Amino acid sequence: MFEKIVPAPPDAILGLTEAYKADPNPNKINLGVGVYKDANGHTPILQAVKRAEERILAQETSKTYLGIDGSPAYAAATRALLFGPEHEVIASGRAVTAQAPGGTGALRVAADFLARTQPGTTVWLSTPTWPNHPNIFRAAGLEVASYPYFDSRTNDVAFEAMLETLRTIPAGDVLVLHACCHNPTGVDLSSAQWAQVAEVVAERGILPLLDFAYQGFAQGLTEDAAGVLALTRPGQELLIANSYSKNFGLYSERVGALTLVAATPDAAQAALSHVKQVIRANYSNPPAHGAAIVTTVLNDAELRRLWEAEVAAMRERINTMRHLFVETLNEKGVQTDFSFIARQRGMFSFSGLTPEQVKALRERYSIYIVGSGRINVAGMTEANMDYLCSAIADVLAT
Ligand code: PMP
Repeated sequence: MFEKIVPAPPDAILGLTEAYKADPNPNKINLGVGVYKDANGHTPILQAVKRAEERILAQETSKTYLGIDGSPAYAAATRALLFGPEHEVIASGRAVTAQAPGGTGALRVAADFLARTQPGTTVWLSTPTWPNHPNIFRAAGLEVASYPYFDSRTNDVAFEAMLETLRTIPAGDVLVLHACCHNPTGVDLSSAQWAQVAEVVAERGILPLLDFAYQGFAQGLTEDAAGVLALTRPGQELLIANSYSKNFGLYSERVGALTLVAATPDAAQAALSHVKQVIRANYSNPPAHGAAIVTTVLNDAELRRLWEAEVAAMRERINTMRHLFVETLNEKGVQTDFSFIARQRGMFSFSGLTPEQVKALRERYSIYIVGSGRINVAGMTEANMDYLCSAIADVLAT
């Protein structure tokens, strides 16, 4: 049976890491996969995480299963981080949360839940978007469509074109929005633009699904929730798939959550019962360790302070690299205007490098960038900046 199977292509982004690992060039640089790296090019374990793990290890007495929707304490801590602890959706019980294996797991649970409860719905994705978005929704049997998001002439949001398309979306369709640090472009909506999107969503009866994978990486943990809060209006339904992979550095532990806000607490509970059935049929119940770390840190004043400082340090390092990159390219005499990179947010930017230039950087300099030209700014360090910018200056000149 299996001898007839034609091999599937490797994942475009994860495949790049394999090629990078196999490259013997000591100067090689990986600006591909989206993991944070420190000034030494290392993806660290946060101190707050290590300390929480010590406590968990000393105190845990059982490895029995969690419930289908995971740990209630984790769900409560997640909701408080998303909306702020005093928010109406928490007090009223309109928001329910299911723990999930990473942001990807949360998105897939959301997709299966939508396919089951809103069959025939179309899921609208930004152009461009994280390439796994269409995979996930299509795998659940949903139709996907796209709305304009990025204007390559201004390197900013194509807001008018975006709104124009949003105004055509039929009631009941799903609109996926990146809550902050848009992947792959690094351009986010302003507060005023979020408010306008929230208006259109409410007017048309669109269901927003916020993908929140980078809380704390743009401007701050609270500031980055502005989009979520703009859409969390009285009576408005929404879904949030959040991830602790980046802001806790818990990539391999697979920690995320799906939060559903319904119009009433009863509707929220009914929806959660379907979310639980979806989870049961997928992986039965989520892994415990990463969620225990997050809960321990978020609920302990001292560990939380330490974690918030560590998130700020990651965010600031990325922003420092954004500015240093632009400055160093200028020093190298590069004529192309890259100043937009310093204005963008989160780990990613669309560099504007062409597929040919990306290929040349890889073949001549062992610099690994996704074919779309998306760069992971966190892969830059003070030590590799000169080599990187010289190489870019060279491929732009030839
Ligand atoms: N959404 C977006 C936009 C992402 O960039 C990522 C991570 N690359 C995820 C979701 C999923 O994150 P996780 O590793 O937690 O599954």
